[in-house]
Amino acid sequence: MFIEPRVGNRHHAPHRGWIEVVCGSMFSGKTEELIRRLTRARIARQRVEIFKPGLDTRYHAEDVVSHNANSIRSTPVSLPAEILLLAAGSDVVGIDEAQFFDHSLVEVCGQLANNGVRVIVAGLDMDYLGRPFGPMPALLATAEFVTKVHAVCVCCGEIASYSFRIAASESQVLLGETDSYEARCRPCFLQGMQAKAPGSPVQATATH
Ligand SMILES: [Zn+2]
Repeated sequence: MFIEPRVGNRHHAPHRGWIEVVCGSMFSGKTEELIRRLTRARIARQRVEIFKPGLDTRYHAEDVVSHNANSIRSTPVSLPAEILLLAAGSDVVGIDEAQFFDHSLVEVCGQLANNGVRVIVAGLDMDYLGRPFGPMPALLATAEFVTKVHAVCVCCGEIASYSFRIAASESQVLLGETDSYEARCRPCFLQGMQAKAPGSPVQATATH
């Protein structure tokens, strides 16, 4: 488990900006971990702002909601640039469902961190085909701290890092996750993909 190395405060540690990424599959507890970190910062009376993409309306428009129903008020935004404006004066900025933002999120997070903000980003590292998802790979590369959390494979009980889509859809963005996805380990994910569509991109890459 990631332990914050130095939370600091603006009077004693003015150069304290950095990026933390919490990534993993669906059902891995990414949002719970984001909320844990943000709540601790808030208890220490740091100024915390939370953002999420405007399209993520699964539960409540203004809450970052995890599956255990712990929630924190958040602001839905369409473009990462809006975060720069809305986060002015914040000590800590949380971003949930980061995979749905465009690649300009990487620069926005970098700017915030350069300005002394602690940035905590949570998101899916892979899409339903096992491909790196949106801006997440670049965020992982530029973050100081990376935490990969895991789910449990519904098929065999091993550690799971893939989000297997049960629903028949080709869209990369498919919400309503509990009905549409299962957490699976690598072999069970591959097995499911091969059963679903022989010759799929995942099967092709798996043979290298
Ligand atoms: Zn498995």
